[in-house]
Amino acid sequence: QQDTFKQVIAHAKEYGYIFSSSEIYDGLSAVYDYGQNGAALKKNIKEYWWKSMVQLHDNIVGLDAAILMHPSTWKASGHVDAFNDPLIDNKDSKKRYRADVLIEDYAEKINQKAQKEIEKAKKRFGESFDEEQFVNTNPRVIKYKTQQKEILERLGKSLTDENLADVKAQIEELEIACPESGSKNWTDVKQFNLMFSTKLGASADSALDLYLRPETAQGIFVNFANVQKTGRMKIPFGIAQIGKAFRNEIVARQFIFRQREFEQMEMQFFVRPGDELTWFEHWKSLRQKWHYSLGLGEENYRFHDHEKLAHYANAATDIEFNFPFGFKELEGIHSRTDFDLKAHEEHSGKKLQFFDPEMNKSYTPYVVETSIGLDRMFLAVFSSALKEEDLGDGNTRTVLKLPAILAPIKAAILPLVKKDGLPEIAKEIQDELKWDFDVTYDEKDAVGRRYRRQDAAGTPFCITVDHDTKEDKQVTIRYRDTMEQKRVPISELKSIIQKAIDF
Ligand code: ATP
Repeated sequence: QQDTFKQVIAHAKEYGYIFSSSEIYDGLSAVYDYGQNGAALKKNIKEYWWKSMVQLHDNIVGLDAAILMHPSTWKASGHVDAFNDPLIDNKDSKKRYRADVLIEDYAEKINQKAQKEIEKAKKRFGESFDEEQFVNTNPRVIKYKTQQKEILERLGKSLTDENLADVKAQIEELEIACPESGSKNWTDVKQFNLMFSTKLGASADSALDLYLRPETAQGIFVNFANVQKTGRMKIPFGIAQIGKAFRNEIVARQFIFRQREFEQMEMQFFVRPGDELTWFEHWKSLRQKWHYSLGLGEENYRFHDHEKLAHYANAATDIEFNFPFGFKELEGIHSRTDFDLKAHEEHSGKKLQFFDPEMNKSYTPYVVETSIGLDRMFLAVFSSALKEEDLGDGNTRTVLKLPAILAPIKAAILPLVKKDGLPEIAKEIQDELKWDFDVTYDEKDAVGRRYRRQDAAGTPFCITVDHDTKEDKQVTIRYRDTMEQKRVPISELKSIIQKAIDF
């Protein structure tokens, strides 16, 4: 696992996907820059989300709210008082950790033990293996799963200001050691607010204390009435937004999974009070379909309903993904009741209601939200695509099997040799295709090496121009995933690529 993760990080850098921020100054912890290919992959993921959420839904519209918001926003939303992480310091190593993450990691290790038993049994029983039955009857698996569940349940109950001492007690009882030094000498657990603060205005006395938004959702809530009225939206309807969010995360690790500056893709769906759980189920299933449609492997997803709900929610689910460091949250779907709109009504003194003509009355709508981290989706796509393939002839290849629709470059056009007029033909093809697709041209090195380079960069098609092309107006198209090569007319290239990336 460790090794795969290291490979993912190294590959992302080598192929221009992700760099440390301000790397020439040794980087800034938990902040990253997206390179030439990373920016394109990110843009394509955004488009894939936006298309399915906004373009394909008559009743969902977009929004682009500012990162800086009136400070009362964060009072109303509860972030000033309750957007905290429980911190614990190790007295010997002087390192700081998120207490809940230490416990969660411990629980995940126990889960891995159960997983190992399941894998072993799978191998032993082969075809006839019934996983569900095994999980429900094998004493060891039952023991591990129960332990894991108990640990997480207790943690869930302890994560309130009043019960923080129990989080420390749990760390001590489980004998969890500091990952760096192995020491078990812990301080008490303290709450730490995650919002970044900044100032608006120049002079010290007139300056207003602001926060960088820790989530995009509040920009949607405060614009509820603006969008509803100007868009003449009728309940049920949704507002979608993609944008940056900032959190002063304590545990700066796991690459782009947990950053201090990141992007969210959120949609708040406003419904009639009482209908929210039906819509919650609806969005759960729609979001599942969206994920499965990308072909990253259904076995890499896990749906995890929350036992312990946030104060504003009456139902919540996490969509977890099998990242190189195990299953972790990728997206959250929450039924947030009327908590947010009511809180903003109270703090602003403005009505945030909807007059429902069918019911002939006004009410504060309930909200079902889908919230996915763009960077986490990027990591899910990228890490599941990276493969080391054994070619069977003693050779291996590194290939990045990105879904074609998301790949930064759709096709590379390669003249077989750098002479005899082949580069000119290849460039003509490039000039033709670039109006519809991101394509690239490469003439350096032997064609086999160029294929490998494009495989590793994630380009789904290579198009090779050779001496016969001059006569027959055909080229060789090579498919990244199968390495199959086919001779096709130049005139068909556009439709072949288009078909592969159709939404
Ligand atoms: P976690 O428990 O992992 O910190 P969260 O429950 O605080 O996440 P939410 O507040 O529900 O996360 O935010 C919605 C989504 O935003 C998450 O599902 C995740 O994909 C993304 N996200 C949250 N924090 C970060 C971060 N620091 N870096 C990257 N993405 C993040």
